[in-house]
Amino acid sequence: VKEDPETRSRIMRAVQGKDTAPELTVRRLAHSMGYRYRLHRKDLPGKPDMAFPGRRKIIFIHGCFWHGHECARGARVPKINREYWIEKIGRNQMRDRKTLDALSRSGWQTLVLWECELKDQKRLRRRLQDFLANDQRSGENIA
Ligand SMILES: [Zn+2]
Repeated sequence: VKEDPETRSRIMRAVQGKDTAPELTVRRLAHSMGYRYRLHRKDLPGKPDMAFPGRRKIIFIHGCFWHGHECARGARVPKINREYWIEKIGRNQMRDRKTLDALSRSGWQTLVLWECELKDQKRLRRRLQDFLANDQRSGENIA
């Protein structure tokens, strides 16, 4: 498959998948709020970006392109090899759904944060606080 340089660098970032700028943003913030977590635990479905074992909570930080977010950025499929990318991203979305299902069946509560949602630090902090501080199953803390 031929790729233009822009696509290639995007692939390299996506394939790497760890320690991306969005992940670091969330980690730094969660850490500054006093939360401690484990990274990419291999024994959990989907090797979650952040796991909070004591709270039985998981956070994924998804790149909009790679995981097919319904936002402007996620909708921007490369013109070259369009079909290839649509199929590939579709597979990623399916895998993400399965991962979230598997985690939820094993009693983990999950939060997916999208790359495009991280700019507003105040809002991000609030979402982290809501998710981590409260038991999502109680249903009394819906923002
Ligand atoms: Zn997005």
